[in-house]
Amino acid sequence: MIPPLTSAIAPGLEPELLLRQIYLNVRDFAIFTTDPNGQVSSWNLGAELIFGYAPEEIIGLNMDRLFTVADQAESEHLKEMAVAREQERAADYRWHLRKDGSMFWADGVLTPIPGTNGAPLGYLKILRDITERKLAQDEIHRLATVDVMTGLSNRAAFDTRRSEMLSLAERTGQLLLLMMIDLDQFKEVNDELGHQSGDQLLRQAAQRIREASRESDYVARLGGDEFGLLQLSAPSPASGGLLAEKLLIELARPFLIGDREIRISASIGIAVYPLDAVTPDNLLTKADLALYHAKNGGRNRYHYYTQALDEVAHRKNADHSELRRLLAKHRCELAYQPILDRDGHTLAMEALLRLPGYLGRQPVEYAIALAGEMGLLPELGCWVLECAFAQLRAWRDAGLTGMRLCINTCAKELQYAGYMAHVEAALIEYGVAASEVEIELTERDAIELERNRSNIIEQLRARGFMVSLDDFGTGYSSLSYLRALPVNTIKLDKSFLRGVPGSSDANAVVRLVIQLAHDLRLNVVAEGVESAEQAVFLTDAGCGAFQGYLYTPALRADAATAWLHAHA
Ligand code: GH3
Ligand code: MG
Repeated sequence: MIPPLTSAIAPGLEPELLLRQIYLNVRDFAIFTTDPNGQVSSWNLGAELIFGYAPEEIIGLNMDRLFTVADQAESEHLKEMAVAREQERAADYRWHLRKDGSMFWADGVLTPIPGTNGAPLGYLKILRDITERKLAQDEIHRLATVDVMTGLSNRAAFDTRRSEMLSLAERTGQLLLLMMIDLDQFKEVNDELGHQSGDQLLRQAAQRIREASRESDYVARLGGDEFGLLQLSAPSPASGGLLAEKLLIELARPFLIGDREIRISASIGIAVYPLDAVTPDNLLTKADLALYHAKNGGRNRYHYYTQALDEVAHRKNADHSELRRLLAKHRCELAYQPILDRDGHTLAMEALLRLPGYLGRQPVEYAIALAGEMGLLPELGCWVLECAFAQLRAWRDAGLTGMRLCINTCAKELQYAGYMAHVEAALIEYGVAASEVEIELTERDAIELERNRSNIIEQLRARGFMVSLDDFGTGYSSLSYLRALPVNTIKLDKSFLRGVPGSSDANAVVRLVIQLAHDLRLNVVAEGVESAEQAVFLTDAGCGAFQGYLYTPALRADAATAWLHAHA
């Protein structure tokens, strides 16, 4: 059964010599034997160097003392011997104990020494100290699972733990809460204070989330300013709300960055296994959806996932594909609404996007927001420009001249890198002059451009375009911004005309705004003029341009052409 030694050793090499080499000269490997009970029966130089026992100190003692105290308590050495008997080898990959009580990580193997009647004569163990490699591996593993900036777990670790915790929740019938926490308007912190301060804030925020949650909660930084939290064995779904409240309060406390106090807030989405989802990925998707709604609902709040959110998400998916379809099939249209002067001459035609079907029944801002989310704004914007320029050209060819064309845009569109180049190309293609075109954007968008330090409005002005502020008065407290924004015209929102001219208060506000605009050398267009009395009042107040149902609602291209002919 056992092959003769000569098959492994060349003739002339003495087994005795070989053993001397192994026992007296091999230093890097511990090699020793035991009797069937584990009592050490031989001990090489490597074993002496690694474990610290001289042969005379250890021979005759049980090898269990080479195991850690915890492993001794579990009789791990006996288990190893049993495995070796059954499988002819037992891998030994664990911490071991030196004579001086220190530990090292060993990689070894235990093999039985066959006896004559099937029971082993004893065991042979060979192992080496690979503590350094083990520590390096542990560090690599740690780095692969830790977010270096905050010290929290990273996304990969979170994904693994999410699956593990969900399986555990499933086996034990517990609830698992998943929370997504995203800081609000964090980009502004970076913009105002720089990236390094942003990083400091992220570290402090991470610490607050860690401290506000339970030790057993799993907290990770998922990327950017987004954190994830997993809580197993929550007493009830409602406990997620309590924790979310606490986190919101903690994150709303001022952060001290350098010598500045910074205030931000956060939004939180919560989903609960097994009520909202039963797979790890779905649970994450639902929490994400809830977070999205917390953001949409005004930020600084938490939102639980509900089925209604799914319906909204489905609706949105459907709207996305509908918008894509309309654009691909050229089913969008432009309508035009005139802007007139006091004498009824047409100063400008404002191009307004019209969509068919369900999307057409929503405020146009909805479709614009969808296009923004889908990255379709450049495409949509280009189409609007070209369609409107082509119309202006057609009117000019028909002898209808002397009016400007107003085009609505938004901050996101204006910030695309290719915007100016595209406008230039369209001007040339349709033979339109920049001075014939007025770019409209809302004050909210104008302020966003300012915040993002975009100089696109200045570029447009320098190129000869007019720029106007649409829906003026509906956005921010606009007066202080008015001075800073490089626009020509404000379009007074129709809400200002509510009560005009019947209410003296309403009249006073309108008068004041028109006066202010004039003082700032801005033109004023009154939007939403519905009655002749309003027009008279506005004229008296100094307004020189009017738009509204009193004259005409927005008209499709052919009707607008007819209207222009009739009012030429
Ligand atoms: P919202 O309220 O919608 O969440 O707006 P937000 O400005 O917080 O924007 P969002 O969450 O979409 O994006 C997070 C921003 O955080 C994007 C990026 O500018 C910034 N950011 C991402 N990673 C880091 C980072 O490691 N350090 C710093 N300082 N900023 C980061
Ligand atoms: Mg954010």
